[in-house]
Order: sequence, then structure tokens, then C-alpha cells
Amino acid sequence: MIYQVIVDISNSNVDRVFDYSCPFAIEEGSRVKVPFGNRTIEGFVIGTKESTDVKTKDIIAKLDDFTPVTPEMIALSRYLKQNCNIRYADSLRLCIPGKLRGGRIKELTRGFLRLDVSKEIARTLIGKNAPKQLALLEEISPEGEFESILAAGYGQSAVKGLLAKGILSKTVVQVRRKPLKDMDGAAKKVVLSPQQQEAVETIYNNMGTTVLHGVTGSGKTEVYMAVIDRVLKEGKSAIMLVPEISLTPQMLNVFRGRFGDKVGLLHSGMSDGERFDEWMKLLNKEATVALGARSAVFAPVENVGVIIIDEEHDTSYVSDSNPRYHTHEIAEFRRKYNNCRLVLGSATPSLDTYYKAVKGEYKLVKMTARANKRAMPEMEIVDMRKEIRAGNNNMFSRRLLAELDKTIKAGNQAMIYINRRGFASFVRCKACGYVPHCTDCEVSLTYHKEDNRLKCHYCGKEYYNLDVCPECGNDKLSYGRIGTETVMEELNKLFPGVKVLRLDNDTTSSKDSTAKILSAFAAKEAQILVGTQMIVKGHDFSDVTLVGVLDADLSLYYSDYRSNETTFQQITQVAGRAGRDDKEGSVIIQTYNPAHYVFRFARQYDYEGFFEKENNVRESTSFPPFSKIVRILLKSENEEKALRAARDCYQRMRKIKEEKTGLFRVQAMRAPVKRISNEFRFQVVIWIKTEAEKDLLPRIYAEADDLNGKNVVTFVEVNPINMR
Ligand code: ADP
Ligand code: ZN
Repeated sequence: MIYQVIVDISNSNVDRVFDYSCPFAIEEGSRVKVPFGNRTIEGFVIGTKESTDVKTKDIIAKLDDFTPVTPEMIALSRYLKQNCNIRYADSLRLCIPGKLRGGRIKELTRGFLRLDVSKEIARTLIGKNAPKQLALLEEISPEGEFESILAAGYGQSAVKGLLAKGILSKTVVQVRRKPLKDMDGAAKKVVLSPQQQEAVETIYNNMGTTVLHGVTGSGKTEVYMAVIDRVLKEGKSAIMLVPEISLTPQMLNVFRGRFGDKVGLLHSGMSDGERFDEWMKLLNKEATVALGARSAVFAPVENVGVIIIDEEHDTSYVSDSNPRYHTHEIAEFRRKYNNCRLVLGSATPSLDTYYKAVKGEYKLVKMTARANKRAMPEMEIVDMRKEIRAGNNNMFSRRLLAELDKTIKAGNQAMIYINRRGFASFVRCKACGYVPHCTDCEVSLTYHKEDNRLKCHYCGKEYYNLDVCPECGNDKLSYGRIGTETVMEELNKLFPGVKVLRLDNDTTSSKDSTAKILSAFAAKEAQILVGTQMIVKGHDFSDVTLVGVLDADLSLYYSDYRSNETTFQQITQVAGRAGRDDKEGSVIIQTYNPAHYVFRFARQYDYEGFFEKENNVRESTSFPPFSKIVRILLKSENEEKALRAARDCYQRMRKIKEEKTGLFRVQAMRAPVKRISNEFRFQVVIWIKTEAEKDLLPRIYAEADDLNGKNVVTFVEVNPINMR
């Protein structure tokens, strides 16, 4: 038997199958130690065959006493290699806990001791010369087992002495670490509403992809759980994905309440040991519901009955560092492999997803009412230009201040959302709200301080910076943006004595600080929560009656073709945090551009209206879903070499454009961030027709790989989320 091995080295030069022989039998999916060149390294067995033409070496050893990679994950790895240009080693690494590699993790064990003789006999056996052993003996209970750490206080040698004399015996058992132990919420019993029941039926009966478009607070989680329930009853497993950061502890609570120990959590905010144990539980089928963020789409469960992506529009589902992948694509692969259901749930589905639903490629099911039977919270749009004209230069409008005051006096809670994203800023006229846009791409321009220019991040076109507003002639142009600290300070000044909490990247660097801040807010330890993107996601606080959005425009002018979509999503989602229980909620949106259609549709909770309008814009500008945008990033420590590679790349793409109709636009430029540490960065951006993807992508990948050389590194991204 010949074993096909992938060596665990992330490098294109060795990214292929190597043949090995082996004196003993090994299962496919095992990790092994193999000789490679003049060293030994770890590898994965991904297949077998009868014979080979090459002279083979023997596999040295099998590394684990279980098989870490399932047949499905092997198939996935082959798929990713072929279709997404992801190296075998990179995708296989995603299928196992990181610390398994290099044998850096073990199963956790706990020692138990038992007194095997009566204390009287023990005393005579110990004698008089071992006072520590005698002292320990007096402490321990004659009945049953006790944990060995209790005895450790008397010194290891005392314990060893008693073991050697046959007075104590020791047993070792394997234990599972349980992450976030106190998240063990009681199952809330609800009766599904008719629209929830209908959603469950539709999803369950569709062995394909279903889009669950349910307004915020419509009770999507209950729908997911009902479907999972059914699937588990068939003896199948489930994968439940939630966005990174904030949602997991809350979901975990609800899921543990419902499915108990059947839940296996895969999530980055855990220790390596915890992560390993949860993963093992899933691999062993002790747990059959995999719950986690993006990387849980690689959960080692088999016989999958349903895969659910909650808040499917969330950008954390796209991995933008190596290996670059779209969670939806992997979920789609697994759905086909298992012939099961895939659910894409959101109050604000991504345009790409909804477009497929409208075209009939996905099934669509809607939930239009909130589970608490209340109306959606009233949204009020405040024109900040009027505030300035009225002499109010504060970051809070008069309306928002009045509502904050009312909320605090009523003993309720408020959330203040600040949009802060990206690395560069746009220019805006403070008087009329004008923001300069690219004349070719319609995306807003980004201000580059270093050369005082305005640039389009898609086509690279540069513009002179403005001295005065071309619309109204005013010279009050703003570049800066407000941060969470400034807002905190202002609130402390305006509302002395009112407790304010803050949640952003700076406050959540430690492992469970996000969860801590959120639970402090849930426990009403503060009346106001100020935060960035992190507070947008599916939190369910019952006393929040006011949501304020400061500078809603910021994401509108983020230089990205998705900026309207993102803004609509964020406003709808953050508004959805208000009035979720039995208190009415209200939302105040501050903007310099109140006439923008994003606000008009968001205010009416008119997703369909927004979709139609935005979809038309995308069609006329040929942006996704009417195309795929491919970015080839070229980096080098040598600026000249990076530039030359970018020119070369550009020419190659031009050549493809001449040959094929599917590639219809090519641009080359410096990357938005010109230089990161010592590397100079250039990019070639290509627009291709969606239907030409299968034909063109392999060719583009191959060209980029070819340019990937000694001094230049290339990266290809399809529809990049965060172009920098
Ligand atoms: P979504 O994810 O759609 O925004 P959630 O799943 O968080 O909404 O549900 C919102 C709230 O409604 C939760 O507190 C949930 O427990 C409650 N809920 C869901 N379904 C029902 C129901 N059928 N009856 C009563 N309450 C429900
Ligand atoms: Zn442009």
C-alpha cells in the first residue's frame, strides 16, 4: 500500500502529494511523522493507492491515537486547492486544533487517591520518622476517592511515601475542560409563532440553501434551534456559525440551555486546552452541535444535517489573511457533500446573498414580525448640518440629548454607537455635507495625508485635495473622526453621576473582557454603553430603550463599493437593539446627509426597497453581484521589484482581457496602504463577469503564483472585504 502524504509545510514548492510506504497500516486522515529531505516532519495522510513509480521512503510513525482529519475534510482540502488556490497544508491545519501540531497539547487528566487500609494499620506502616506522612494521613478521609491535589499541600514526597507503602492508591482519569463554565443558561420555553413554524418547515424541507430574512428580534435563534432539534433526532449533527467577537457567549448560553453537553464550542477566546477538548468531543461524536465563529465551519462533525450561518452578512465570515476563504463557500461545499440544509440568516442579508434568493438560486423565507409582537422601534433621522447652523457644535444633537435625558430618568438604558472603521479618512464639508467621490467608480475618495491627495481605492485615480467645498464654497472641511473615549468624556460631562461603559477594540484585548463588559451592562451596572461595531451584533438587552448613532455617514464614505450596504446593515442592526423586550424603543440617527437613500430606506425598515435601489447601482457600475472583483496584491521589500512585478502583472491581465470577454476591466496602482513595515505594496484590481469565474480564476491564480518569486510575494483575493 502506498500512502499519499501532504507535508505540514505552508509553501507552494512542496504543496503537492508525496508518496510514502509504511510497514504498518494507517488510516486516511491520520497525522504522521515522515522523513523529508534530510529531516523528519509532520504530515497528513490524505489517500492511498496500490503502487507508485517513485522510490518511496517509509512513514516513521503515526502521531495520534485517533484520526484527526475526516474524509469530508480531505475532500474539502482538495476542493480548496483546486478552486481557491489554498495550499493543502493550510486548509488541513484549519481542520485540527493548532496546538496538536508539534504535539504541544495533551488530554487533561486528574489524579485521584484512595486510602486502601485502615488508618490504624496505616499508622504502624508509616512509623514515627515520617511526620508529614502522618499529618497527611490524619487529614484524609477514609471513605472514597479524593483529588490528589488536596494531598499535595503536604508535599509530593509525603504522597509518594504513602503510595510506595501501599497505603494509598492512585487512579488517573481523563477530564474535559469546559470553556465558559458559567454560561449554562436555563432553556427558555417558548411556543413558536406561526411564522417561526413556517420558517422551520421551509428550512427543514429544503435540501439546499435557504435565506432566512427575519427582522431583528423576530426570533431567528428559536428557528435555528428547532431545525437543529429535528436534525439531531435523525441522528445527524449540526454546525451553527455566529459572527466573531460578541455573540458567542450569549448564543452559548442559549444553546447549552437547549442542547446541554451536546454543544461543542469552537472559538478563539478559549485556552488551547479547552479548544482541543471541545474539538475532541465533536470528533468523537460526544457532541453533535458545533457552535462557533468562522473557523467552526471546519468542525470535525460528520453526517451533517444542517449548517447555519447567523448574521450571514457579517464581514467576519471572510478570512482576509492567509488562508483567504469565504465561509459561505465552504459551507456550500459541506452542504453538497452531506446533501443537507444550509441556512443563511439575517435581518439584513448581504446583497450577494439576497440577489441569489431573488433569482431563485436560494430559497427565501421571511419573518416580518418581532417575537415580542411589538412594532419595530421608531427611527428618527437628525440633520447635523442644521445643528451647526443653530449654533450647536456638540457631537450630540439636541434631540439625542433630550432622549438620553428621558431614558436615564426613566431608569432605562441607552446604547451609543460610533462608527469607526478602516485606517484612512474622507473629507467632508461641515456646512453642506458634501463628500468628493471618484468620477469613474462612484465610491468616495480617501484622504491621504502624506501627499495631501484624494484617492480612489479601486481605480487608483488621484485628485487634488479641496480648499473649499465645490458645492457651497464653505471652507470648513473636516477630516477627523470621533473616538469612543471622547464620547465617554462628553457623556460624563453632560450627565455627571451616570455610569457609562465603553466597548471597542481597545477595551477588549483580554480574553473575556467583551463578555465582562456586556454582562455588566446586562446587569444594569451602567446606564449607557458606548461602542463601535461590537455593539451592533445580536445582543438582546431587555432594558435598552434608546439607541443613538453618531455620525452614521462614516461608513457611507468608507472607500468601498459596499459602503451603502454596510451602512444600511449597521443602522438596521444597531436600531434592532432597542425595545426588544416589553418596553418600547426609539432610535436616533445623526447624519450630515439625511437625504441619502440609505437613511430613507433604513428608517422605514425597507430592506427590499434598499435592495432594489442598491442592486441597480451595482448593475450600472458593474460591481458585485454583477461581477467579481479580484485584487492581486504584490509586496516586496524592494520598491523597484514590487513595481516591476505590478507592471508585469498588469500586462498579463491585459493579455487575458484581450483574449477573453469575461475580464472587462484592469487597473494597477499602489495599494491603499503603500507600505507596511518594510514592504512596499502595489495592487492590480480586475473586474470579471460572475459567470466567467470558473474559467478565469485558475488562470489568474496561476499568473499570480508565477509572479510569486524570491523577492516578491503575491496574494489574490476575490471580493476583498478590507482593501488596504
Ligand atoms: P433575532 O436573532 O431574530 O434578532 P432572537 O432570536 O434574539 O431574535 O429573539 C429575540 C427575543 O425573542 C429573544 O429574547 C427570544 O427569546 C424571544 N423569542 C423568540 N421566539 C419567541 C417566541 N415564539 N415567543 C416568545 N419569545 C420569543
Ligand atoms: Zn475610481
